[in-house]
Amino acid sequence: MKKCMIIGCGGVASVAIHKCCQNSEVFEGIMIASRTKSKCDALKEKLQPTTKTVIETAQVDADNVEELIALIESYKPDVVLNLALPYQDLTIMDACLATKTHYVDTANYEPLDTAKFEYKWQWAYRERFEKAGITALLGSGFDPGVTGVFSAYAMKHHFDEINYIDILDCNGGDHGYPFATNFNPEINIREVTAKGSYIEDGKWVETEPMEIKRVYNFKGVGEKDMYLLHHEELESLALNIKGIKRIRFFMTFGQSYLTHLKCLENVGMTSIEPIMYEGKEIVPLQFLRAVLPDPASLGPRTVGKTNIGCIFRGKKDGKDKTYYLYNICDHQECYKEVGSQAISYTTGVPAMIGAMMILTGQWNKAGVYNIEEFDPDPFMEALNKWGLPWEEDFDPVLVD
Ligand code: NDP
Repeated sequence: MKKCMIIGCGGVASVAIHKCCQNSEVFEGIMIASRTKSKCDALKEKLQPTTKTVIETAQVDADNVEELIALIESYKPDVVLNLALPYQDLTIMDACLATKTHYVDTANYEPLDTAKFEYKWQWAYRERFEKAGITALLGSGFDPGVTGVFSAYAMKHHFDEINYIDILDCNGGDHGYPFATNFNPEINIREVTAKGSYIEDGKWVETEPMEIKRVYNFKGVGEKDMYLLHHEELESLALNIKGIKRIRFFMTFGQSYLTHLKCLENVGMTSIEPIMYEGKEIVPLQFLRAVLPDPASLGPRTVGKTNIGCIFRGKKDGKDKTYYLYNICDHQECYKEVGSQAISYTTGVPAMIGAMMILTGQWNKAGVYNIEEFDPDPFMEALNKWGLPWEEDFDPVLVD
């Protein structure tokens, strides 16, 4: 029996679990293991009557390697899909190493006390994973994730070299709240309040937060303001895609979101430095998270679409070539299908597909790899089949 252990039971995990249950030919058994077991049990109760996938649940503290090892040894999954938070990446990788179990995640490790994500911590496991004969697939969400698969696909089928990549992440959805984040607020706010950066000629160029703004007209959404952010896949794509001169990442934000964020920042609510409050140490950003709407509750009220993709420019047979690959996803359609909005959906579907690539052996090499290092074709086919069909444009408007 092919089995997958899913760690975490939040917004993204819920979608991935729905998708595993739709795909019971591959996912014959799943275990949902998270901090709050009642959430895992509630999902099992909802989904078990609808699927042949045998669902089990467990409580686990994913910060505790010994606990993880004991759980993996008792369930014996073929692959562990980490959909907890980036802080747990290394403890879960340690447990996978100890039990020789394949590993998949959607976000790279970030220490709790520094809002700085980079791959060095996880890449340091390469040799140990190779020796153990197991695979770690890093970044199997949408961005990172599908953006890397799109890049590998463009490289394989359309270019001899890719010189410029612009990743455009547009959320045209409206949840009706003046301020809310579409996925884990703590991770989200840490990401958007950090300095921006991009890679040019092999070097990182740093910008102030939200310093670089562009306007783009997205198919299915319309015209939106977008801002240059630092994003984790820039680091791996600059190394893995041949010919890169510049790679940038842009995300759209509405004015209301930015005004609220600026205010929260100005009063110190987005800080990750602990402070004393009534004799107790609290982290302002974690407190803020507690008072903001739970991203999982946005599903029923979010309308509109997302459009996320990559514009590539490079050379094919000596000639200049441009190619845009993107996916459009509708918040309400996602909600109807799996009870979540499109941000969780666009991450949870590729997470399921990444685990499927490993379970079916279609992706099979020992070591630690970013997603663009595998053959993109079976993943691209699975995107069309499992709810994230892609579109292409050979003459897109470019970002200056
Ligand atoms: P949520 O906060 O909704 O869910 C996180 C889950 O992890 C919760 O169920 C939480 O438990 C559980 N968890 C947290 N800490 C522990 C722990 N120590 N032990 C066990 N379980 C734990 O987050 P999201 O679903 O929005 O995000 C999940 C991941 O997906 C994050 O890493 C995020 O960065 C990533 N992501 C990636 C994207 C991409 O495109 N690549 C896009 C969006 C998100 P509890 O229920 O008790 O709180």
